[in-house]
Amino acid sequence: MTGLVVDILDLPPTIGATKQIHLDLAAPEDLGTEVIGAEPGSPLVVDAALVSMEDGVLVRGSARTRIHGECVRCLTGIDEDREITFDELYLLPDKAAEARADEEDEEADDLFVTGQTTIDLEPALRDALILGLPMRPLCRPDCAGLCSQCGERLDDLPADHHHDTIDPRWAALSELLPGSDEELD
Ligand SMILES: [Zn+2]
Ligand SMILES: [Zn+2]
Repeated sequence: MTGLVVDILDLPPTIGATKQIHLDLAAPEDLGTEVIGAEPGSPLVVDAALVSMEDGVLVRGSARTRIHGECVRCLTGIDEDREITFDELYLLPDKAAEARADEEDEEADDLFVTGQTTIDLEPALRDALILGLPMRPLCRPDCAGLCSQCGERLDDLPADHHHDTIDPRWAALSELLPGSDEELD
């Protein structure tokens, strides 16, 4: 359980009844993908309206947090502030069971009101956040990546950067292996 679990005890079941929430939290650990996501511990501010519907509770709002990731080509850190919006229906448990019975294949991504009293905003937030995040984050669209020889960022190096010299370990090896000089050039 995180601070993203909100109670709806005081939300009247009348259709259209609304409860406003404002959360000021620290971002949890796994809000994102393996390569990019909310920086754990960074501020996470959520503003949302919970609206009673016939089948459940509509959760509509926005969240702001700090994103951290790494460029997949050059490993430079990527940090940015991001605002995400979400709009999800959390089904009441009995409605969820009905919806499932009606459908041939089970909808794995349905969201539920837990025990009719609480809603966990984390899955809705995660879905909305991941949707807007790049699969392969880049520090800039044309990042040239790293030099395969020295591991430096090519964008930080002069355009004519190259390596003529043979790695000393290879040079030592070539001395031990007569006749292999040509192959190493
Ligand atoms: Zn990069
Ligand atoms: Zn290099």
